[in-house]
Amino acid sequence: MKKYLLIGTIAFMGTALFTSCGRAGEKAAPEAEFTWEVDRFEDISVLKYRLPGFEQLTAGEKEFIYYLSEAALCGRDILWDQNFKHNLVIRKTIEAIIDTYAGDRESDEFKAFITYAKRVFFANGIHHHYSNDKFVPGFPADYFAILVSGTDESRLPLGEGQDAAVLASMLTPVMFDPSLYARKIDQSEGIDMITASANNFYEGVNQVEVEAYYASVADPADPRPVSWGLNTKVVKTDGKMTEIPWKSGGMYGLAIDRIIYWLEKARGVALSETQKNELDLLIKYYRTADLKTWDEYNVVWAGNTGLSVDYINGFIETYGDPLGMKATWEAVVDYKDMEASKRTGKITENAQWFEDHSPVDPQYRKEKVTGVAASVINVAMLGGDCYPASPLGINLPNSNWIRTEAGSKSVTLANITDAKDNVARGSGFLEEFAFDQAEIDRAVQWGSLSDALHTDMHECIGHASGKLAPGTDPNALKNYASPLEEMRADLFALYFMMDPKMTEIGLMQSDEPAKAQYDNYIRNGFLTQVVRIQPGKDIEQAHMRCRSAIVHWVYEKGKADNVIEVIRRDDKTYVRINDYQKLRTLFGEMLKEVQRIKSEGDFEAGKGMIENYGVKIDQDLHTEMLERYAKLNLAPYSGFVNPVMTPVKDSNGRITDVKIEYCSDFLGQMMEYGRKYAFLPAL
Ligand code: ZN
Repeated sequence: MKKYLLIGTIAFMGTALFTSCGRAGEKAAPEAEFTWEVDRFEDISVLKYRLPGFEQLTAGEKEFIYYLSEAALCGRDILWDQNFKHNLVIRKTIEAIIDTYAGDRESDEFKAFITYAKRVFFANGIHHHYSNDKFVPGFPADYFAILVSGTDESRLPLGEGQDAAVLASMLTPVMFDPSLYARKIDQSEGIDMITASANNFYEGVNQVEVEAYYASVADPADPRPVSWGLNTKVVKTDGKMTEIPWKSGGMYGLAIDRIIYWLEKARGVALSETQKNELDLLIKYYRTADLKTWDEYNVVWAGNTGLSVDYINGFIETYGDPLGMKATWEAVVDYKDMEASKRTGKITENAQWFEDHSPVDPQYRKEKVTGVAASVINVAMLGGDCYPASPLGINLPNSNWIRTEAGSKSVTLANITDAKDNVARGSGFLEEFAFDQAEIDRAVQWGSLSDALHTDMHECIGHASGKLAPGTDPNALKNYASPLEEMRADLFALYFMMDPKMTEIGLMQSDEPAKAQYDNYIRNGFLTQVVRIQPGKDIEQAHMRCRSAIVHWVYEKGKADNVIEVIRRDDKTYVRINDYQKLRTLFGEMLKEVQRIKSEGDFEAGKGMIENYGVKIDQDLHTEMLERYAKLNLAPYSGFVNPVMTPVKDSNGRITDVKIEYCSDFLGQMMEYGRKYAFLPAL
């Protein structure tokens, strides 16, 4: 489960940098010269992240990181195909055009094509990474045909008997027809979410059939259920439903074999025996697709804490499936930030205290909070669904019974957060949307700490808290499960942020960081987060639905006491918190109800919570936010280019060091990855 950035980032004006990242990336620059933003297009800002302390790692740790990083990059094609079945052929066509198109490359149309290409690269497909809407190319369809016909045909992903013209006419409706494959995921109320979603998890089946199928295979009485459907595509052929597993020798096998190759190398230099066993299980799972092995792996992985280097690699998060079962492929390689991990250590040490003092119904609290291992890490490589758009915090594994029995690991991504903070400072955002100078001052002084604490608490204790009532179906909340789960974690963090315990254990010196967090949360959920949404559209994304639902619910419940006040000043809307303590109480009440909904699997109540508070946007307010935001010239979304790692070998071919270079060319990195890590056929 991931927690995303709350607000967008700003940037410096784009610097012209044309190095290709595979060859001559930019060397690490001293602090003052470090340019965070490497590219800017449409609603996207692409940043670099730094690897602080990497040089101080041992040669063995660096070698381990290097192998895991290669494994992290080898699954890229899998995600592209999962997102949409035509993504790979479109990407290969785009790459061929960029490399070999012989026509005018200075025209406005070609520039519009490059912008489209960047958007597609950033989203790992032709649907927006966040809104899930299909991109509208900024150039006409007949220009696309000209591009394809002007491209080296040997580089085009042509099918049997196909020529460039056939390829172009096949792709034209896919890319240009707005009604075709319009949304990657569609969770609108009352529709068939399977047939309406363009993702590649299901073929020839509808929602009723899929639900009936999984209801027939899953045993609701099993106390340790596997994650049904996690790593398969469901297809219906000749009236028969089958699951095609993603594994070596199966679907995605060619990419999975490359992942296995690098994981085996990593296994050879793993940092402990347990970590070796853990990698053995992961490799076995990739070979068999056996979900029991996946669970075994996760039990070992969750218990394997305290190591200086760790990773995530697999089919993990289910946000991409409207039914929340199929997981997209992702990978992260990371190393521990020792100093900052002391902070999360304090939260973890007190996890049981927080659980025991939580406002939820005692029967839904955990008697024993098991091993919530929390640490602050620096990312060394992002892959799959974590790249280029990266989470700020991750809490895994996702399986409920494993979390209860074996615990979970929770990480805050320090260098990613640091990059975003650096860019956000001085953007003019706070000055525009905060109610007064006191609020701005609080945010400037305490924003970084309060965000870090919120992320830590969301991940370390929020997701890890609570339990289901006996017999509750873990999938009962269906399409509302993700936003409700995020609400649970956010509310837990918000509620305890203002608790005297926080100062008692030395996490904060006063209430000020907590107030800054409340200001920020309410301002974001009530006002600013909708700048990411097109006019007239509803809120779809789970974390955004979560924030909207929380803020509108507490606003309504606190209205009689004027807890949160909406103020109009100079034709602009602001929000002000009049009573922080009452607001805290409301967060607690809401947490109690959301936990009850999850514990009892109360679908109707969960649906009501999300549909009534989390989905709709006040149209006038939306227009106002978009106008005010547009004037700031900010990019609502940001993501990252990866560093470039080069192993240094001795005369025996052994790796003695790994050199890091910071890439400054987003398109260059994308093209490089297209050459180095393309393992799946396009058709
Ligand atoms: Zn979360």
